[in-house]
Amino acid sequence: MQAQALWRSGFRQVLADSLPIYSATSSDRLILYAPRLICVLDKRDTPAALRHIERLAFELPQWEDSRAMSQSRVLHAAARIIQAAREAAREMTEASRQEFMPECLTIYVNNQCNLRCRYCYSQPDVSVNRTVSADGVRAAARLVAGTCATRNIPFTLAFHGGGEPTLVTQHVDRFIDIAREEAGVFGLHPRTYIATNGAVSEETALWLVTRFDLVGVSCDGPPEVQDRYRPGRDGRPLSEYVSNTMSTLQRHGRPFHIRATISRETVYRQSEIVSYLADRYAPSEIRLEPVYINPSGEALLDVSHAAAFVNGFLASQTAGKVRGIPVTTSITRPNAIYGPYCNVLRRVLNLIPGDIATGCFLESRPDGVNRRRVQIGSLDSARRMFRIDKEYIRSLIIRCSERPIGCYNCLCSCQCTFGCPDRCKLEESVESSSFREYEGGSFRCLVNRMLMEAMIVEAADKAWVSTKWGNCNEIWDKQRMLNVRVYKNGQRNEVNP
Ligand code: SF4
Ligand code: SF4
Ligand code: SF4
Repeated sequence: MQAQALWRSGFRQVLADSLPIYSATSSDRLILYAPRLICVLDKRDTPAALRHIERLAFELPQWEDSRAMSQSRVLHAAARIIQAAREAAREMTEASRQEFMPECLTIYVNNQCNLRCRYCYSQPDVSVNRTVSADGVRAAARLVAGTCATRNIPFTLAFHGGGEPTLVTQHVDRFIDIAREEAGVFGLHPRTYIATNGAVSEETALWLVTRFDLVGVSCDGPPEVQDRYRPGRDGRPLSEYVSNTMSTLQRHGRPFHIRATISRETVYRQSEIVSYLADRYAPSEIRLEPVYINPSGEALLDVSHAAAFVNGFLASQTAGKVRGIPVTTSITRPNAIYGPYCNVLRRVLNLIPGDIATGCFLESRPDGVNRRRVQIGSLDSARRMFRIDKEYIRSLIIRCSERPIGCYNCLCSCQCTFGCPDRCKLEESVESSSFREYEGGSFRCLVNRMLMEAMIVEAADKAWVSTKWGNCNEIWDKQRMLNVRVYKNGQRNEVNP
């Protein structure tokens, strides 16, 4: 399906007390969307549906299914879409008012790397042999485990970023043990995750198998792509090592994801890359991420690549589906309410060398943290505890969760990183003209709008044609991660398998 054509179809925000509800018509159907939910009706129901939504949005009590259902299917659709929109609006408000309660400890162990990726944003340095300390990990793990226990949620321990964590396996081993000890005090057992470039020995690959519940491997595709973009520090091709690592993980049944960075050259080869990776390594998931802004300005995508990315992504999702492998991108996540990747919003305590916590996932060194002013905590060595600056975190949460003015009426207003990481919320005021300008003209903005719209329309079409007749039926579209409710004339639904 061509995203460009879908893009022209256009969703409009429904006048409904500023709730995030959008409508569009497509052939004989009306599509209503509120984050995470689609309702599809007969196009002839459009005036009645919009009237109901406009009226019900101002009625305070939540409509119950039974009450609405007893009256008409159009009223029921209106009530459900308002419910979903209110839920999304509530979550957005809560995100901006949340207290920082970390549920994940992410450790950037070091700032060294054995690769020299052309588009690397963290610019690791082989000469700096600095890691986080055991005391820092212990104190941070205690803090995170405590909040997880209080909230009765699992504790996640992740290693990545800034450099390559497998270069210091003995440190990582020690840190896992420490985190387990601290979590054990609260009766918890951490789930472990590591992101690696995969250019490691067979011995280290086996270590990954034994030490982690889930492994993320960065691999951009076939050897000629991988070696072009991700060579060793001395320029040597290392794709063979990455391939061996993924084969080892596959052979031992350890779940792993592949992250493929999409550049201005590979944007046209996404489907081929996904087919190659899926057929050869059968990972649990393939994530396609456009290149982040980077100091060398390498391989960046701009608005002229947006349609190619969207079309390529949709085609690669289909290629993944045929092989039973989900293909995702963090730009567009239809099943989530989200904003920028800031650690303070995602409830991540992100420890970096120097035993300080960064509020921004891009910053893996103390000087960068200071420059961006995102230090949110540090180890108090004397007391062996991790101190977080609650007041400062509060101010960061407010600034990072603010929606830019130009985004209020957008289909993605509750589901967008607002340009992050290419544009930082902390570097721009909500009202600055550059922010408004970029909303209509940045690669990430355009991709999110086009892809979200394409996924909604595809999910709605598929559900509509597969439903014979009936009042209301809810279908989970796994590929597009969306709930679809179909309202057709008649008595009971029959959904073709
Ligand atoms: S593996 Fe990661 S940290 Fe290392 S050079 Fe590549 S992008 Fe940078
Ligand atoms: S908005 Fe800024 S601080 Fe937040 S994650 Fe993005 S780049 Fe970092
Ligand atoms: S940045 Fe773009 S896609 Fe995101 S909410 Fe704003 S206008 Fe929509």
